[in-house]
Amino acid sequence: MNFKIQTINRHRMTVDGEGVTTLIGLYGCPLQCKYCINQRVLKEAPYKEYTKEELLNVVMQDYCYFVATQGGITFGGGESLLHADAIRDFIGILPEHVNVNVETSLWVEQKSLEELLHLVHQFIIDIKTMNPLIYEAYTKQSNEKVIQNLNYIVKEQMQWKCKIRVPRIPEYNDESDIVNSVSILKNMGFKTIDVFDYIIK
Ligand code: SF4
Repeated sequence: MNFKIQTINRHRMTVDGEGVTTLIGLYGCPLQCKYCINQRVLKEAPYKEYTKEELLNVVMQDYCYFVATQGGITFGGGESLLHADAIRDFIGILPEHVNVNVETSLWVEQKSLEELLHLVHQFIIDIKTMNPLIYEAYTKQSNEKVIQNLNYIVKEQMQWKCKIRVPRIPEYNDESDIVNSVSILKNMGFKTIDVFDYIIK
């Protein structure tokens, strides 16, 4: 299965995982977040297809940096878990000592998460909000799948490999919603939670 890739950004330092990382921006997302810039980016630079071997050639230019800094590859999006099969196959040909991280909203079928949960070094989860009404207003989708996938991570006791990002979303949530989301996530056993401001471009 080929990757559909929007962007490849090399030499990123500690913004998409530990160490030096290469960010692979994958195509496609089931959500319609109000402030998403992806549709505009895609019009300016449509995706290209890569086989796993072609992608390996690109990322291996930075192998020494990855090994020296415990960095690696971060798949972002779009929704990277839509490409779970391709990421699994890619991990299969990747040399040792290169970490693979995945950025996701978790708005995917559970089987996509199951495929990668034990293979990936870190999941960076853009949770939006734990409030179902705000979630639906902002993304145009219910957050039922997200909750189901969070519960699956808890069942597998894999909270330790998740970093959960909780954004302040202008006009959609407020500090009390942030406090509520963080509290629910902590009660589920997630320890690394990053509250941040959405920058609207
Ligand atoms: S989850 Fe991310 S890529 Fe998908 S619509 Fe929302 S902001 Fe855009």
